[in-house]
Amino acid sequence: MRASTTGADVLVEVALPLPLFTTFSYRADGQYANAIVPGTRVVVPFRNRKEIGICVGFTEPTATTRDYKSIIEVPDAEPAIDAAMLELCRWMAAYYVVPLGVVLRGALPALMTGAAAPTPQQKVRRIAAITNELSSLMHRDRIFSRAPQQRALYELLESLGGHSPVEHLLEQLSFSPSVLKGLVARNLVEIRLEVVSRDPFAARPQTSTRRHFPTPDQQAAIDALSAGAPGEVFLLHGITGSGKTLVYIELLERVVRERGQTAIVLVPEIALTPQTVDRFRLVFGDAIAVLHSALSDGERYDAWLALRRGEKRIAVGARSAIFAPLRNIGAIIVDEEHEGSYKQAESPRYHARELAIVRARNEGAVVVLGSATPSLESWTNAESGKYRRLSLPDRVGGGRLPKIEIVNMRRPTARDSQAPPDPFTLVVSDQLERELRECLTRGDQSILLLNRRGYASFVQCSQCGDVTTCPNCTISLTYHRTPERLVCHYCLHHEEPTSRCKRCGGDTLRRRGLGTQQVERLLSERFPTARIARMDVDTTTGKWAHADILDRVGRREVDILLGTQMIAKGLDFPDVTLVGVIDADVGINLPDFRSSERCFQLLSQVAGRAGRGPKGGRVLIQTRVPGHHAVVCAVAHDYTRFVEQELSGREDPPYPPVTRLANVVFSGLQESATEKLASDAAERLRRAIAKHRNEITVVGPAPCPIERVKTRWRWHLLMKSSNSALLTRACRFLVERLEVPKGRSQLRVALDRDPVSLL
Ligand code: ADP
Ligand code: ZN
Repeated sequence: MRASTTGADVLVEVALPLPLFTTFSYRADGQYANAIVPGTRVVVPFRNRKEIGICVGFTEPTATTRDYKSIIEVPDAEPAIDAAMLELCRWMAAYYVVPLGVVLRGALPALMTGAAAPTPQQKVRRIAAITNELSSLMHRDRIFSRAPQQRALYELLESLGGHSPVEHLLEQLSFSPSVLKGLVARNLVEIRLEVVSRDPFAARPQTSTRRHFPTPDQQAAIDALSAGAPGEVFLLHGITGSGKTLVYIELLERVVRERGQTAIVLVPEIALTPQTVDRFRLVFGDAIAVLHSALSDGERYDAWLALRRGEKRIAVGARSAIFAPLRNIGAIIVDEEHEGSYKQAESPRYHARELAIVRARNEGAVVVLGSATPSLESWTNAESGKYRRLSLPDRVGGGRLPKIEIVNMRRPTARDSQAPPDPFTLVVSDQLERELRECLTRGDQSILLLNRRGYASFVQCSQCGDVTTCPNCTISLTYHRTPERLVCHYCLHHEEPTSRCKRCGGDTLRRRGLGTQQVERLLSERFPTARIARMDVDTTTGKWAHADILDRVGRREVDILLGTQMIAKGLDFPDVTLVGVIDADVGINLPDFRSSERCFQLLSQVAGRAGRGPKGGRVLIQTRVPGHHAVVCAVAHDYTRFVEQELSGREDPPYPPVTRLANVVFSGLQESATEKLASDAAERLRRAIAKHRNEITVVGPAPCPIERVKTRWRWHLLMKSSNSALLTRACRFLVERLEVPKGRSQLRVALDRDPVSLL
């Protein structure tokens, strides 16, 4: 739809990236009126500055059209946001209750959102190219008789195929600029500019692995996916090592190579999965744009352009790759669909898995949600028939699921041990130490996981392992120091901490995390000759840091890989025959309804790293709560039993997937003002929804489990309802209608719909 066919002025509705739920009207004068369609970027004046906005529609011109400010510039010939992307962004804005302009900004590469330079520079380099061929030797002798240097450079260019980057000639080959100038002045050589596409992955060495033939199970999945209906969602439930990647690759062969369509592959955190990315690159090479989190803005823009122009047809990346500007999408793959990192923690707080489903439905693609441990949400949708389930129940290539054993780490009572405990044995049990030693002697590799997610402290009995939980909820109580109390962050129950365990009367103790660095030191003292690599946020700051560490493991230069959650995913090393989990239960006790699910997923994933080769493997899980269903079911490799038990725990009080959830976080510099805002909001909200009391529940307000972040106090309330439309209305009421007092406390309200974490 064009704005005007007559060239008259029109009024353009522009969405600006501001925290305001409104669009703005601007006048497009004759020259621009025809250039603008919905999705076009426009530069407009806004409060004494320039902003880049997106045209989202038109308003009927009126007598007062002349009073509106004019659009300053229209930088692109084609709309930056096509119709399908605009539709996706509108859905997102409505569902997550975020201003459309903010959503649209997030859908474009950063370089396209700055008003100062609306048209990003592409990187160019200068190329020297021969323009005049000198075929006869005599001619050549004559021309260069007094310029031997020019002749050398000319002949070098010839040997390089007639052209070469100027930088290469001057810097690596040390020709002087004057020699090149001479050739240019004599019209023998010209300098031209060439756009360089910045693709840092091009430099990563290709590892070649053999391409496999699909097993019958894999083939059945590939066939079903290839025949999927437009918009159909598949849940590919395949145990660790069942060969899900090959299924994805074969599907892409059909979609991209045979049907000429495009595809998106989402991975949880791209830096952590170099092996998976390498496998895709090996098959599809240049057709892939890898949207790595460490790309510079320029590199990201280049990748965007290449996808937009159809030069690259597969986008591989973390959650924001769902916005890849591809047309004619045939498939969207969400690998490890249960991963929490698909949810963006800042506004717009979208879930990439949900967007994948909406985008696929709008554009007629199939969706593959792949996981060994599907999220309860996806599993329930598969059970109800909303998604179609495909299973890969066995490991491929002769591997078997590893044997998992539990090591009970409950402290011996004081009577048992006279000597002060050895710090190493507090961290690594005798059994795990013995297994590590044997693994080293065999010359195999081991992986040690230190589960360090979480900040909240809790109270646990040192003798029976019991963690103090809320009497009303199946949630552990969080220990707060000032004033000293234990709080349930779900129902607001609070109590005084006791020094004796209520269950067995033993001493209670507050638990806090243990650092990877500390464990690394203990290990290197105990195993002085072992080559230990540590992988955590501190050792992985560089662009290729993850890949470097994992490549070293792959080259067998590492005996023990020690790390946080980041080592649990996707790694495929056949010589890893031992996996140890140092403390399985840290995550279980976080005050979050998903903590058991996360723990189960983590244990299953990390256990899945062992025994991927013919040598087999074993897994040792150290825990103080060996009877917890997350641990028990992970040990038994029993996903179905876990889901049954976990689902029943989410019924009363209801939590997703039994109901839908929105978390509203109020924050400010002063605690009392923050608390007051939260209470006022809850009261107004309760009044506003009084009619629907049976359909929507408001819980709280209460302080957030992490009650202060970056000097801001935090309170929250939860809204629960099975009625999505009603929940949307309640969300809008809070976000759009609630008046937040201005002032020193700098109060803010943030809405998180379908939260993955309530901390
Ligand atoms: P998952 O992602 O399901 O854990 P992967 O896709 O990483 O599993 O595959 C596990 C291993 O099995 C990889 O080393 C892969 O190369 C190998 N593999 C996959 N499919 C086959 C097959 N059909 N035959 C033999 N080996 C296979
Ligand atoms: Zn409670």
